[in-house]
Amino acid sequence: MIDYDYKRPDSLEEVFRLLQEYGPRAGLIAGGTDVMVKIRNTKKAPEVLISLRGLTDLAYIRKNGHYHIGGLTTHRMLEQSELLQNELPALYEGASRIGSVQVRNVATLAGNICNAAPSADTAGPLLALDARVTLQGPDGERRVPITEFFTGAYRTVRKQTEVLTEINIPAHMEQFGSAYWKQSRRKAMNLPIVGIAVSLRLDNDTISDSRIALTVAAPTPIRAYKAEEFLAGKPMEDAVLAEAGRIAASPECCTLRDSLRGEAWYRARIIEVYVPRMARLAAERIKKTH
Ligand SMILES: Cc1cc2nc3c(=O)[nH]c(=O)nc-3n(C[C@H](O)[C@H](O)[C@H](O)COP(=O)(O)OP(=O)(O)OC[C@H]3O[C@@H](n4cnc5c(N)ncnc54)[C@H](O)[C@@H]3O)c2cc1C
Repeated sequence: MIDYDYKRPDSLEEVFRLLQEYGPRAGLIAGGTDVMVKIRNTKKAPEVLISLRGLTDLAYIRKNGHYHIGGLTTHRMLEQSELLQNELPALYEGASRIGSVQVRNVATLAGNICNAAPSADTAGPLLALDARVTLQGPDGERRVPITEFFTGAYRTVRKQTEVLTEINIPAHMEQFGSAYWKQSRRKAMNLPIVGIAVSLRLDNDTISDSRIALTVAAPTPIRAYKAEEFLAGKPMEDAVLAEAGRIAASPECCTLRDSLRGEAWYRARIIEVYVPRMARLAAERIKKTH
């Protein structure tokens, strides 16, 4: 049996107090769908698990100029949000493709990105939507662009004493269409072999701005900046989108590798095919919502 103590504070202040009291012997737990699997697999647990489930005020999705998603918001709340489905469809798609309904009912968006798996399904959409995260600690809060959040596989800039309290998506994303593709072996309960999120804005039929994000294409989720630069100012045409897909799949943008779930050549092929498809879908969605 693996032994650990479990605390369920009902305020952030109490969470910070416990984090300071126990230091590196403490671990945070939200839905527990990564934490408990890790404890079971490694047969090791922190001395104390500090649950965030009592912080019910942090479970929200709001639009108030920017989009605000609280640090205890579950994937199920995201997939049931009409606001997200209509205005930030890539994130809606990322959240609704995670695990099963049972998993999504308890698993949180913050947990998905704090766990920082290279395959995290919401990381690509958040990168394509210019998200920023708020990290709150005993000494105050800081905002970190999602592009600077991941520092390696399963590693982030979050300090041990900090809680991710909010994910913020800037208001300008309202003018972008977006889409996310998860390539996996089966429809449910499988991590992506590769994930592709695209957001873009059009000026008539010219691509004025775009974001292309990839997961399982490098040790951390990444933006394909060279492909984005290539698209800027170009017409929304098949040959242009195909070239953007080729650049995104090349070593100019990613470091693909073979793994049990898929080989590098296959990942490259999927990126090449799905960057153009997601770009088209994103463009159609702008027309629909604006
Ligand atoms: C059966 C199954 C299927 C799954 N399928 C998928 C899938 O298809 N795609 C996918 O991406 N993932 C999948 N997962 C992984 C997991 O469900 C997600 O990563 C989930 O979003 C984690 O959220 P959680 O609230 O359960 O996090 P937890 O397990 O509670 O925590 C994960 C990590 O984040 C930290 N943490 C959590 N919340 C905060 C916070 N607010 N502030 C600071 N640190 C925090 C914890 O300390 C821990 O290190 C699956 C898991 C299972 C068990």
